[in-house]
Amino acid sequence: MGEERRPAASRVRCPKCRSKTLALTETGEWGSTFYVTDGRLDRGQGFHEPGCIFRVDAQCALCDHTWKVRGAVQITDCVIEDQESDHA
Ligand SMILES: [Zn+2]
Repeated sequence: MGEERRPAASRVRCPKCRSKTLALTETGEWGSTFYVTDGRLDRGQGFHEPGCIFRVDAQCALCDHTWKVRGAVQITDCVIEDQESDHA
């Protein structure tokens, strides 16, 4: 217990000033799908997608530079996974 609240190591740093203090924003789309069957819209059958995140934007806290995090589609792509081999 408590392990998950540990801050994760971020692999993101400002390409301009090399700062590692920044804000990360997941950006995506929300969607609601409704089905029309033979011309009749069934409003009770709509469901809401939890959101498709497709990119992560970053903003440097020091120089205000903003950029898109390369290769990241969600926040978990921005952290360095814990290496289990660290318990010697
Ligand atoms: Zn910066």
